[in-house]
Amino acid sequence: MIPLFVENALVVGMTKVSDVTAGGHVLVEDGVITALHGDAERRAREIAAAGQPLERLDARGLWLLPGFVQTHIHLCQALLRNGPDDLPLLPWLRTHVWPGEAAHDEATLEISARLGLAELLAGGTTAILDMGTVRHTDAVFRAAEASGLRVTSGNALMDDPATNPENLRVGTAESLEEVERLAKKWHGTADGKLRVAYCPRFAVSCTDRLLRGAAARARANGFLVHTHASENADEVALVMQRTGKRNVAYLDDVGISGSHVVLAHVIHTDGAERALLAARGTTVAHCPSSNLKLASGICPVPEYRAQGIRVTIGADGAPCNDRLDAFTEMRLAALLPKVRLGPGALSAWDVVRMATAEGASALRLPTGTLETGRRADLLLLDPGSGFAEPTTWRDDPYGPIVYSMDRSHVVATFVDGISRYRRGASFPLKPSSAEIGAAVAALKRRRLEQKR
Ligand SMILES: [Zn+2]
Repeated sequence: MIPLFVENALVVGMTKVSDVTAGGHVLVEDGVITALHGDAERRAREIAAAGQPLERLDARGLWLLPGFVQTHIHLCQALLRNGPDDLPLLPWLRTHVWPGEAAHDEATLEISARLGLAELLAGGTTAILDMGTVRHTDAVFRAAEASGLRVTSGNALMDDPATNPENLRVGTAESLEEVERLAKKWHGTADGKLRVAYCPRFAVSCTDRLLRGAAARARANGFLVHTHASENADEVALVMQRTGKRNVAYLDDVGISGSHVVLAHVIHTDGAERALLAARGTTVAHCPSSNLKLASGICPVPEYRAQGIRVTIGADGAPCNDRLDAFTEMRLAALLPKVRLGPGALSAWDVVRMATAEGASALRLPTGTLETGRRADLLLLDPGSGFAEPTTWRDDPYGPIVYSMDRSHVVATFVDGISRYRRGASFPLKPSSAEIGAAVAALKRRRLEQKR
């Protein structure tokens, strides 16, 4: 691999609020950041003097930061974008999302995943935790491998006959065996970028036996667990009715808690549950667009953070957003707490940390900051394009990133130092409109067949 030397950027390292270097440099060798600034310049000179190849990227006027990490995504739902609006969670799942997912075959799922991954890369996201769907999960991993993104995913676990449609349900043992089959095939492949997680959909869709089995196997194998929790008041009531416990307390009881667990949403919690999240080190994935669109509620992010609970960012699925855009989620994450708690509730720095270093740490990734030894997942922003200027009323870049920039400012995205998206360049990962149209037609046809 030819070393990459990014020079003259405003380097936003994300290790601490003051870690911002104007005219900074980053050297990447074999996918790893090996030197910064003066050291990087010296090392680049040595490489050039030795007559070895070196890719130079003059980033004058551009901002370089770690790629965004989104800790809750549904790639399988990218083709379900722009479905019905104005529904609450459970009817929305039953009428649009579950029938749509059940209609996937390998081909449509791969198109869906490619569409989602392309959107993520073009918006500066370099790593995700994906929920997967029940069947055909190899298609998600194939698309992930082709994209170059750092993807952790798995087959969504849904085994309870009382709560799941028949066509989107797999038995307990078979569900868990499928995770193991996927792990043998994909876990640690693509230079470690692809990983398998246990993804019980949510407590409502899983039997107690499945949740306990997934929790035990994840612990034994050192895998992440990814699920939804306490997104909606009706969901919390349903879990209470089924188990006699509140949702987060019940998940803790079956073993789904700890630093390897990411719970999406976590809006409706009581004091005991918050204490559990903090004590166990469980991560909350905050998805503000989805929470607003489905009227689920507002996640108490500043309160969680004050209690020591790690909070990260995710766009959730395309049909409840309807975009997979870290900028949108950061902007809302920053604005929402201000209404409740005042303008100082959550700073732009805090929010960019949640979308980079905190996300990487939750997913146990060697990324999320620009430091030597980290894998080089990078994002180049152009503050001069679009309408983010002026950015010079303040010394730090965090406010502009959160409040005035959007994905149109993304110039390039790198994973392991390899360019995976460049603005204006051909981007074959993104399916054509004809491919998307044909895949959606196939989904609609199969939905009708399944209804009969
Ligand atoms: Zn979700």
